[in-house]
Amino acid sequence: MPARPDESPCILCREIIETNRAGLSFPLFGRTVGIEPFYKSETCTVYVCVECCVGIASNRVEFPRNRPLYEVVHGIVKEAVAQCPGFLLDFWNQLRKNMELPRMGIAELTQGEIIPPEKRLKAG
Ligand SMILES: [Zn+2]
Repeated sequence: MPARPDESPCILCREIIETNRAGLSFPLFGRTVGIEPFYKSETCTVYVCVECCVGIASNRVEFPRNRPLYEVVHGIVKEAVAQCPGFLLDFWNQLRKNMELPRMGIAELTQGEIIPPEKRLKAG
């Protein structure tokens, strides 16, 4: 099942995000405040791709200082990436796909064997 109905450009890098790719959505609408009659626009959804999310969270993508809305977006993206390790997993799998390596999921990552060190270092 696709992650979204249509392919959409990332609002930061403008790369097209395919419908089956992960990303972060920002539903936006405008509504009047202190103006009669009340008006609320249709909701438009914009997206940020995983690569930009990871770049923002790691401070590799700065927001334009003259665009305060981007500051809000950056704050939300950082919080989302910090809360959801799936961004990093998707980023890693896209890197693997680009290198023609098989896709891996959380299950495969957690099946590793923990090998204790042969010998412990003596304390102090
Ligand atoms: Zn992007």
